[in-house]
Amino acid sequence: MKDLVQRAERLRADFPLLHQRHPSGSPLIYLDNAATTHKPRAVLQTLERFYTTTNANIHRGLHWLSQEATRLYEEAREVVAQFLQAASPQEIVFVKGTTEGINLIAHGLRQVHFQPGDELLLTAAEHHANIVPWHLIARDIPVRLRPAPLRSDGGLDWEAFQQQITPRTRLIAITAMSNALGTEMPVSAIGALARQRDIPFLVDAAQFAPHKPINVQEWCADFVVFSGHKLYGPTGIGVVYMRHPWGETLPPYQGGGDMIVEVRWDSSTYAKPPQKFEAGTPPIAEAIALAESIRYLTQKVGWDFIQAYEQYLTDYAQARIEEVPGLQLFGTARPKGAIWSFYSEAVHPHDMATFLDQAGIAARAGHHCAQPLMEALQVPATTRASLAFYNLPSEIDSLAQSLHQIVHFFV
Ligand code: PMP
Repeated sequence: MKDLVQRAERLRADFPLLHQRHPSGSPLIYLDNAATTHKPRAVLQTLERFYTTTNANIHRGLHWLSQEATRLYEEAREVVAQFLQAASPQEIVFVKGTTEGINLIAHGLRQVHFQPGDELLLTAAEHHANIVPWHLIARDIPVRLRPAPLRSDGGLDWEAFQQQITPRTRLIAITAMSNALGTEMPVSAIGALARQRDIPFLVDAAQFAPHKPINVQEWCADFVVFSGHKLYGPTGIGVVYMRHPWGETLPPYQGGGDMIVEVRWDSSTYAKPPQKFEAGTPPIAEAIALAESIRYLTQKVGWDFIQAYEQYLTDYAQARIEEVPGLQLFGTARPKGAIWSFYSEAVHPHDMATFLDQAGIAARAGHHCAQPLMEALQVPATTRASLAFYNLPSEIDSLAQSLHQIVHFFV
């Protein structure tokens, strides 16, 4: 274990932001990685290098700068395809983030797939990004959301999930890892069920992607979405994987430059996917920097280290938080990612997060954009500590120490 911690300490040198101090003078302890992660120097340098040496618009220019920018952008698509084990880079669409990605899919399915009375099967742990876009559809076509319940330990109730698949189920859309609980869902098992029944299957991998490797083919997924900024990459870039031939089937999400073959006053024809879904100037530098964050993660840090060390951190955090009297810990089901949500009857989560902040600890309090889940847990909100491979056991010790002080103060 000592080796893993030493490796994490060395990797921290790659993240300039982690070396700042909180205004109170305390070292900054960043435990809000589920909201967004910090960026390694390699990613920051890629952004700077792009703007200082290669900046040009893509796909349209015949000059060398534009060609070079296009080459890097399309190379980024290949890096993402490989990261997801997609069959082809043509199945990768760049978007702004997970939220835009799910809206793009929902917009397309509304036009070519859903009928009144159709059902969408989700889990009770969905982020609002995988709830509200379907509500927007339901305004035009009355479809019904059916959330499958969780067990009391936060794991998916598998029997109930299977029972909720009906002849009206026209989409299964689940998070691979709950952003509030860290719980991992049985994605491959759900994908196999969906494929057997010919039901399209969408996976929200926003939280899963930074913690565990993805194989979209093993998942039997039709759609997978994630955000670059949670994967040590920039904001403003995300990914939609669309299994072939969904890219052909779905209509464009937005119209404009770069997504057409021909435009006349009375109609236009569209380019092939993925260009068909990338109207206008895309986030070029961000896509190229996302590819760099993937290279950093998979080549410099490595999944073996990430998984072994984050497992250790998760267990360590559980043990330390469980020692705090009166704290209720949610989402103990395994397997789980390095995210812990907790609640004390004595302290409102917002007060808890404010006290933690005074100790230099960045944690999140609120409903975590998962209000239906909070309702199921019967709490107004929780405090959440979410970890990354650059966090240290000593930071968890500081969290536990502050939690002891806060609970002692309020009780
Ligand atoms: N889904 C999950 C599970 C998330 O955790 C988040 C971000 N909190 C989102 C979707 C939305 O991601 P973004 O804000 O990057 O679009």
